[in-house]
Amino acid sequence: MTGETNPFESLQEQIDDAAAHLDISEGIQTRLKNPERVLETNLSVEMDDGSIEVFRAYRSQFNGDRGPYKGGIRYHPGVNRDEVKALSGWMVYKCATVGIPYGGGKGGIPIDPNEYSESELERLTRSFAKELRPLIGEDRDIPAPDVNTGQREMNWIKDTYETLENTTAPGVITGKDISSGGSAGRVEATGRSTVIAAREAFEYLDRDISDATVAVQGYGNAGWITAKLVAELGATVVAVSDSSGGIYSEDGFDPVAAKDHKRETGSVVGFPQADEEISNDDLLTLDVDLLVPAALENAIDGDLAEEVSADLISEAANGPLTPEADDVLTEKDVTVVPDILANAGGVTVSYFEWVQNRQRFYWSEEKVNDELEGIIVDAFDDLTTAFETHDLPNFRTAAYVVAIQRVLDAYEQSGNWP
Ligand code: NAD
Repeated sequence: MTGETNPFESLQEQIDDAAAHLDISEGIQTRLKNPERVLETNLSVEMDDGSIEVFRAYRSQFNGDRGPYKGGIRYHPGVNRDEVKALSGWMVYKCATVGIPYGGGKGGIPIDPNEYSESELERLTRSFAKELRPLIGEDRDIPAPDVNTGQREMNWIKDTYETLENTTAPGVITGKDISSGGSAGRVEATGRSTVIAAREAFEYLDRDISDATVAVQGYGNAGWITAKLVAELGATVVAVSDSSGGIYSEDGFDPVAAKDHKRETGSVVGFPQADEEISNDDLLTLDVDLLVPAALENAIDGDLAEEVSADLISEAANGPLTPEADDVLTEKDVTVVPDILANAGGVTVSYFEWVQNRQRFYWSEEKVNDELEGIIVDAFDDLTTAFETHDLPNFRTAAYVVAIQRVLDAYEQSGNWP
């Protein structure tokens, strides 16, 4: 990981690359590259010992031309204003790539949640929800989980919002527990789209995913579900990793058993079925058919990209490649299915959750998965059509060309007022 590349600058470069293939004025291009507003707030939270600790928190609302702002809330020490701005922008273009009627937002607090008790995290999350209350709402801005947040935090935010508003509004947040209005299939959705997108890309390359060897970096929600589902299609998972390191077996191993080991011990490292332990950089440069970065931004920089030996990358994480890595991989003819399509299953099933919340009518898991499959396959077709029609250098630029045009169309239909 480089830690040096600013993800907001990466986002802006990705937009510039695509805009060069579209007819866009300079002013509008600037508009497409910057958030509409960013909330930066300081939360005073009581700790278990009675002391008060102050936490910085952010929410960026990047663009609402296509619908309410939408995007997760991250708890991680690396969270900062520019990261949140970048993540909110990627949400805009992700929702547009898959054609769901949302804009983009993102929020975060720079903490390591492992350092706090559950009751401290609850007070912190409810305090953040109180600050967010004027900005969020079922038709305004709809948060969701991201790194180190999940159903528990979403339930707290929903409850705080509903209590303060004296109403029921399950659609104010997605990624909730099923009993609090969550959707079947949401937990698996990000991994599922990462796999569907990889399967479509292999098919585009006249190959079959069931023959693939696979390495997955990051073994949280996005990574481990990707490993499980790709194995269900017959592929061989040979390596996985988390923040403590990686494991490798030439003949593959059972990704579900590796997850059980992580649940019991806190890491995949030490998993008895694996032949050897490897570093995260080793994993990213393995000679596999499919590489899935599913941890954080900037996992692969330009130097590491020179060493990448995979044929196909499906980005479960947001922003795992720096722009320099993208250039190197394009040059090396490595196919990259970009984050704004590959991991869009999460926000797509969040959208289904919101639709179900608004209708108070809930779908079966089979219906959720079928609808998701259709949306990702159609989006992949739109991407390859743009790739071929505009003769674009790679799939990322193709996805942005499609997405930017959709945002522009919505903006132009509405007109620039006041
Ligand atoms: P998570 O907290 O469930 O898991 C993160 C995993 O990454 C953990 O296993 C952690 O150990 C590992 N990790 C952290 N730093 C690492 C490092 N330096 N090297 C290797 N592994 C490392 O988070 P998640 O929800 O799975 O999110 C992962 C990525 O997927 C993020 O980029 C997130 O924005 C993206 N994403 C998630 C969703 C979703 O629905 N969960 C949707 C879209 C995109």
